Amino acid sequence: MTLDDALKDAHIPSLMMALVHLTGDAGHLNPEMKPVYDFFGDGQGGLSPEKQQWVRDRAKAAMLAYEAGGTLPPPPDAATIRKMMDFIAGADIPERYVPFLKEELGIAVEDTREVKWDTPKLKGAAAKMKVVIVGAGLSGLLSAIRLKQAGVPFAVIEKNADVGGTWYENAYPGCRVDNPNHMYSYSFEPNHAFPYHFSTQDVLHDYFRRIAEKYDLRKHIRFETTVEEARFDETTSLWQVRVKDKAGRQETLAANAVISAVGQLNQPKMPDIKGVGSFKGPAFHTARWRHDVDLAGKRVAVIGTGATAFQVIPEIVPKVGKLTVFQRSAPWLGPTPNYHDKVADGKKWLLEHVPTYGKWYRFWLFWTLTDGILDAVAVDPAWNDTSRSVSPMNEMLRVMLIEKIKEQLPGRPDLVEKVVPDYPFGSKRSVRDNGVYLAALARPNVDLITTGIEEITPNGIRTADGALHEVDVIVYGTGFHASDFLRTYKIVGRDGVELHERWKGDARAYLGMTVPGFPNFFAIYGPNTNIVVNGSIIFFTEASVRYIVNCLKLLAETGSATMEVRNDVHDDFNARVDAENLKMAWGVPNAKSWYKNALGRVSQNWPFKLVDYWNATIKPDPKDFNLA
Ligand code: NAP
Repeated sequence: MTLDDALKDAHIPSLMMALVHLTGDAGHLNPEMKPVYDFFGDGQGGLSPEKQQWVRDRAKAAMLAYEAGGTLPPPPDAATIRKMMDFIAGADIPERYVPFLKEELGIAVEDTREVKWDTPKLKGAAAKMKVVIVGAGLSGLLSAIRLKQAGVPFAVIEKNADVGGTWYENAYPGCRVDNPNHMYSYSFEPNHAFPYHFSTQDVLHDYFRRIAEKYDLRKHIRFETTVEEARFDETTSLWQVRVKDKAGRQETLAANAVISAVGQLNQPKMPDIKGVGSFKGPAFHTARWRHDVDLAGKRVAVIGTGATAFQVIPEIVPKVGKLTVFQRSAPWLGPTPNYHDKVADGKKWLLEHVPTYGKWYRFWLFWTLTDGILDAVAVDPAWNDTSRSVSPMNEMLRVMLIEKIKEQLPGRPDLVEKVVPDYPFGSKRSVRDNGVYLAALARPNVDLITTGIEEITPNGIRTADGALHEVDVIVYGTGFHASDFLRTYKIVGRDGVELHERWKGDARAYLGMTVPGFPNFFAIYGPNTNIVVNGSIIFFTEASVRYIVNCLKLLAETGSATMEVRNDVHDDFNARVDAENLKMAWGVPNAKSWYKNALGRVSQNWPFKLVDYWNATIKPDPKDFNLA
């Protein structure tokens, strides 16, 4: 690969930032070159081919000089970095974002989210602690990395035979991440070799497997072992965690703290439809894909059109004889032309070799895909009818997205009518569209059924209009028991109170992590820490894990055995969350989704900005807790 070839594949705004680092010349931040992004644009900031070439030429000269000399000029000062952030964002980034984004950018320090336990007293206290981590998915692995760095002994309990959580379990055809991979990866563990912008399940699984190897975590993980119960013992201030291995052997582990990293979306939900289970052919949930069932030439039903079914349908449609898709509500499709594209070799080369290019590229992804988008899904109080949109901006987006749907389905007004969602954009998770989904639905061997399902019969699916759709295989893309948090084990806190009994189907926690009456018990991806349109869940995990490790550090610093969030702090926080969620597209009364629990409360989503979670979780405020 020549430098010229590599530069052809450059993300020009990121390359401009790297150019400043390579040359030490902030004069490259010429206002005439400042990117201006368009929602449906190519991400090159509207720069003309001539301007793009100008950047490439200068970057080439700077790279050749760097390769010859081997050193970089001193890094830009703080004020210049600030200017560069605004420049690449094509926006005036509000001041309150700056520390947060600087950390995400990580130019100055490699890994700023590691919690240092740097005095002999703290090191001694760390070594005496014991922590049980439940789950070896991306949150459990990160918890293990941080505890290892802190010198805190820990054991990870994992129900599966391998690490990776959701990326281990969801092996259905077409499974891939819907956040750009160069952002959907730990901030301190970039992978410049990701083959796709949105990689497939096997790539993600491999990434997390390699993390487990690199940090030598496997020896701390008990695979094929489930946690049955975690019980707080008030006399010793220890958690007693009862685990069961594959052979049925039980053991109880004592721990000062429990970190529950069990995810939200891994308990498959079968629909509550009459006759489920009566079907005589193969029938399975997407998260339990039957790879032994050959779909070639078969009549296949897919129930559901959420993010999972959306990925499955285009993948299986060329193989099956006939596909019948049962849609209860249509997903919103967000145009993403590069959704299935490979990362160009030149871009991989630049990520690997051009100093800071990868960091700025991640920064650009992070900024353009995060809080800026929230305004488009916030309810305008003056907007009277929220059944189809929630604000003028949301309505404008709706109109534009419908146009994109129509463009893809010429001559098929029947299909357009079915696939235009009847709820506001942002009320549910939207999906990333590169054209393959609607093209699949438009194929002659596909029927999209929008009449409700009456029952499953031994031979197929009967709809409310009396029609029986005979099929050979049923695939349930019907989602997960998302609002039933931590449903796989009993958690007994002070006074013998069981967490689920306290919650009564309405899970709440402080910052998604801690609950009064459950000292030293921390959840990751707990209540109200999911995001709908902005950002990657790995960001939340990194923020939560730092907070939790800082909680343990607070125990060590204060010599306390336990910390328990105060009732008033927990309740005030949840009142603010509830009020704010009502102001978002997913909170309006007509929005129905897994974001709401059976009581209709949004128990999943973080309604504020990412920067607010970052600020709230840098470290615990001792005043929020009862320390004992
Ligand atoms: P989901 O979003 O809950 O979708 C379930 C689908 O099944 C919906 O279309 C739902 O219709 C339908 N359904 C449920 N019960 C039904 C019934 N009784 N009759 C007819 N239809 C029924 O589940 P999912 O698609 O597995 O996605 C869950 C979440 O996982 C996503 O929102 C996303 O956060 C995550 N995910 C991410 C990726 C990715 O990153 N690439 C991929 C897959 C999933 P209604 O919409 O009407 O309820």
